[in-house]
Amino acid sequence: MDDADHQSRTDFLPARLRMVDQQLQRRGIYDSAVLAAMRTVPRHEFVLPEDLGQAYGDHPLSIGHEQTISQPYIVASMTQELRITGKSRILEIGTGCGYQTAVLAKICEHVYTVEWVSELLTGASDRLRRLGYCNVTFREGDGSLGWAEYAPFDGILVAAAARNIPPVLMEQLADPGRMVIPVGEHLFSQQLMLIEKKGAKTTVDELYGVRFVPLRTSDLN
Ligand code: SAH
Repeated sequence: MDDADHQSRTDFLPARLRMVDQQLQRRGIYDSAVLAAMRTVPRHEFVLPEDLGQAYGDHPLSIGHEQTISQPYIVASMTQELRITGKSRILEIGTGCGYQTAVLAKICEHVYTVEWVSELLTGASDRLRRLGYCNVTFREGDGSLGWAEYAPFDGILVAAAARNIPPVLMEQLADPGRMVIPVGEHLFSQQLMLIEKKGAKTTVDELYGVRFVPLRTSDLN
């Protein structure tokens, strides 16, 4: 890292720490691993150059291809709901720019991430390699089909809104395991759902209202 590089990275630290304090801790994010990850992952590396000044703002941002980087609170909250540990293997659907992927990768053992849009996937995998994340496996394709080869997963995080909870994802969830997924057909009426598999019992809870881009589905579904 040369001087200019070092300067550009450290300049964002106060904004990042403020984001964690004001947007996350004050709104009830308590998991210390999630807070530590969000204090570390350089969110400004994941936004478009013209949005650098808003990288730590309390809102989603466009990342091109009609997709978005989620609001920091949503990333933290969805990660916290998974209750992951350093031993967890996580499936993420909707890599986008790779910010959520990086937060997960800081905390868990391995992230398997699937993205539909080829250019986004390439961008995210290049970015994460450059930033030194080694515990992520990338795939281009339809994540609503899961990733059978590496199943079961201790946690599944879906970052796009589904019409229903795909049964194949339920099958690929470990026991015990937790999944968070936005469900709903309309932009303004999606609910973030938490599914918990434990022994013979599977529970489904509505957490809160969210706005995600739609989960695309291929004919294979
Ligand atoms: N995780 C991102 C937000 C991703 S936005 C963050 O860190 O902020 C949702 C992403 O889901 C988009 O990039 C979109 O292309 C992708 N997507 C939509 N349907 C998909 C599908 N069926 N399989 C994989 N990715 C999908």
